Formats: sequence, structure tokens, C-alpha cells
Amino acid sequence: MAHNEAMRWTRGRVRKLQEALDTAYPDARCALAHEDPFQLVVATILSAQCTDARVNLVTPALFLRYPDPVALAGASLPDLEALIHSTGFFRNKARNLVGMARALVERHGGAVPSDPLALSALPGVGQKTANVVLANAFGVPALAVDTHIFRVARRLGLSEARTPEKVEADLCAVIPREDWIPLHHQLIFHGRQVCAAQRPRCADCPLLRLCPTGKGECADPHSGETLPALLRSPKTRAGRGAPAGRS
Ligand code: SF4
Repeated sequence: MAHNEAMRWTRGRVRKLQEALDTAYPDARCALAHEDPFQLVVATILSAQCTDARVNLVTPALFLRYPDPVALAGASLPDLEALIHSTGFFRNKARNLVGMARALVERHGGAVPSDPLALSALPGVGQKTANVVLANAFGVPALAVDTHIFRVARRLGLSEARTPEKVEADLCAVIPREDWIPLHHQLIFHGRQVCAAQRPRCADCPLLRLCPTGKGECADPHSGETLPALLRSPKTRAGRGAPAGRS
């Protein structure tokens, strides 16, 4: 059964989803340490293909060395690469950071713009990064779809789209605009803590009653398999006599 047959996201179901997420993740917020919009842009660029925890280990020294766009615009690439090496793709990220800082200085007087088009035109800043900055630095409703939201939204049947941009459009169509920012953080927390890519803990999931994938009503769009055949909760599987090799 396809998701759209298994689950219709009516306004009432969306409300139940939000209530469950509010209860499970009342303190969900941006996990990237930052003190101003500039630091958030830098941290978000570094977070590509890297964990937020790793980025947070790197940014204190980085911000000490390059505290503003003028300083970063004049950075030496080898020095910058050495500072951000552990975040991966460091050469590309270093080039983007310097290019972004130069663009801020040359086009925006050294300030991060709050306009979506101006933001996403900065080197290294695509739609996702722009949305993260808009929401967390300026409080502008936006719903950046990262790998966690992409996976969770598709499993919940909130979207059947195959690109983050289309999933974002589907989410924005069903979620009230004023709830985009908290929902963004809550779905990321949920993806990290419960709805993991390889081992979703459906038996312990506060969204199970709303999730056609977790209830086995359709195949998991992430793995292509039906989740009840996969491991859910180690405790539950042990109780059901599940094979040890799958726990
Ligand atoms: S029930 Fe399972 S697949 Fe659905 S959201 Fe929860 S952990 Fe993810």
C-alpha cells in the first residue's frame, strides 16, 4: 500500500503529530552553537556531511581566529583548512567560507542578509542553509529539510517526494506556517533519537500510531523493506524471540 493510501494528513492528524512532538521534544532547538547570524552561517556551512557535535568542537577556535566577515574574508586557505579539517570536505568548505565572507563584505556591508534570495546567493549557502539561518537567526518561518527530516517525513507519509526541495514544499503545504520552525527542530531530534536510518525504534516511538511505515502498512521508503520485519526495539524484539542477528 502506498503512503498516500495508508495515511491522509488531515488537519486533525497534523495537530496530533504536533502534540506528540511537543510532548516528546519540548526543548528541541538548533544544535549548532552560535551567537549571531554570521556564526550560524559559518556553522551551517561546516555542518554539511558532518555532525553538529563535531562542528561545535571546531567553531570556538574558528570564531576566535575569525570573529567577523572581514576577518574571514582575509583568511589564508591553508590556515582555515587546518582549523576545519575534522569536519570533512575541508578544502571546499574553506573556499566557500572565504567566498561567503567576501560576499558579505562586498555586497552586504559585512552583515548577513535576512532576505532568502540574497542569502541563498552567497557562496556555499543553498536553500537548506538559507532556511536554517532565516529560521534560527531571524525568526523567519522556514522549514529546512535535512537528511533526518527527509527520512522521517517520508516514513510518516507526510511526503512521497524524492528530493529535499519537494519534501519541503509538501511539509509547508500541510504544516501551519507558524509551526515550521519548532517542527523543523523536533523532526531532526526525532530522526536522531528514535527514527534512525538503519534501526528505527518504532516500538518506542511516540509517533507510531500516526506512522504507516512503523505500523507496517507500507514499505519503508528509506530501506524499501517493511519495518515490522526489521529490528524495532531491542527490548521488544527480545521479548518476541527475535533472532539475535537482527538485534
Ligand atoms: S514509527 Fe518508526 S518509522 Fe515511524 S516515525 Fe516512528 S520510528 Fe520512524
